[in-house]
Amino acid sequence: MAREALIDQHGRAITYLRLSVTDKCNYRCVYCMAEDMQFMPRDELMSLAELATIATAFVDLGVRKIRLTGGEPLVRPGVLSLVAKLASLPGLDELTLTTNGAHLHKLAQPLKQAGLSRINISLDSLQPDRFKQLTRTGKLTDVLAGIRAAQDAGFTRIKLNSVILRDRNDDEVIDLVDFARAQGLDIAFIEEMPLGVIHEHDRAASFVSSAEILSRIGTRYPLTFSAETSGGPARFHRMADSSTRIGVISPHSANFCSTCNRVRVTADGRLMLCLGNDDAVDLGSVLRAHPHEPSRLKEAIKAAIQTKPERHHFRLDAPPQIIRFMSATGG
Ligand code: SAM
Ligand code: SF4
Repeated sequence: MAREALIDQHGRAITYLRLSVTDKCNYRCVYCMAEDMQFMPRDELMSLAELATIATAFVDLGVRKIRLTGGEPLVRPGVLSLVAKLASLPGLDELTLTTNGAHLHKLAQPLKQAGLSRINISLDSLQPDRFKQLTRTGKLTDVLAGIRAAQDAGFTRIKLNSVILRDRNDDEVIDLVDFARAQGLDIAFIEEMPLGVIHEHDRAASFVSSAEILSRIGTRYPLTFSAETSGGPARFHRMADSSTRIGVISPHSANFCSTCNRVRVTADGRLMLCLGNDDAVDLGSVLRAHPHEPSRLKEAIKAAIQTKPERHHFRLDAPPQIIRFMSATGG
């Protein structure tokens, strides 16, 4: 049977789904969450079976890559069974995970066995005290053990994700690159996005552009732009003497909306068409109203894709227009 394709009104083929399995997290990173967070009511969360049904509908409609995210995906009980189920879907090329790494020391091996293809691990500092301050609750040694466990389990092309904040960790750019080089990892630097109101954190004051980060790295390691892609928004650069790729994700300084191939589904089953807009369609309600009619879910997805906005309009010099936190949407 020929697979259907999701093409939006701007001619973009949607082939990549980011699926948030929970909005909860064991960390409280200063740019991602407020100190005092309200999480989704339990009865509004999709069950793992419901998330799998939604993901299956997307794969039937031409999605080739799924990234599990959150919140912290590895705090959701039963997440391994979801990984196993999705990994076995015919037509899915890649099942990946973004994690803070805290639980990887015990879960890396089972995740590999369940069929996970690749892992991204967030790491903003290599200094234990600072790591604790940035995550408010995290322990650096847990994440370092998690990275080792992922390597030991046989994961390759592991990518670190770092958010660099002025005067908080911007002096660690080279240290993070050196760590990635020494460990044989890729690393992507993400420009901070204004998602959610966090009174105790000034996003404009802490903003560091991708251009500044690349220029700092370039003074130590000459960089060559590389056209390769991991299927997401990162643009990669190479160093002559290392296999490590340096990525930058630049929602502010280099808008990537024209090539956007992604949509997100939240843990309560809402299809978010763009990270920088509020447009959403409640797939969870469609599924619960018609649990035995997958065609209804697919029709709702196809109609929603036609409303995907052309681009985001992030601004750091105004109060956030998007009051959802990154952790609620799925990073
Ligand atoms: N908990 C997992 C983790 O930290 O990797 C997965 C979810 S987290 C929301 C995904 C990524 O989004 C992380 O790399 C995090 O650093 C990034 N992130 C969170 N809030 C952000 C923001 N406001 N701007 C840019 N990146 C953000
Ligand atoms: Fe949790 Fe990830 Fe957000 Fe940090 S970035 S608070 S680890 S969801």
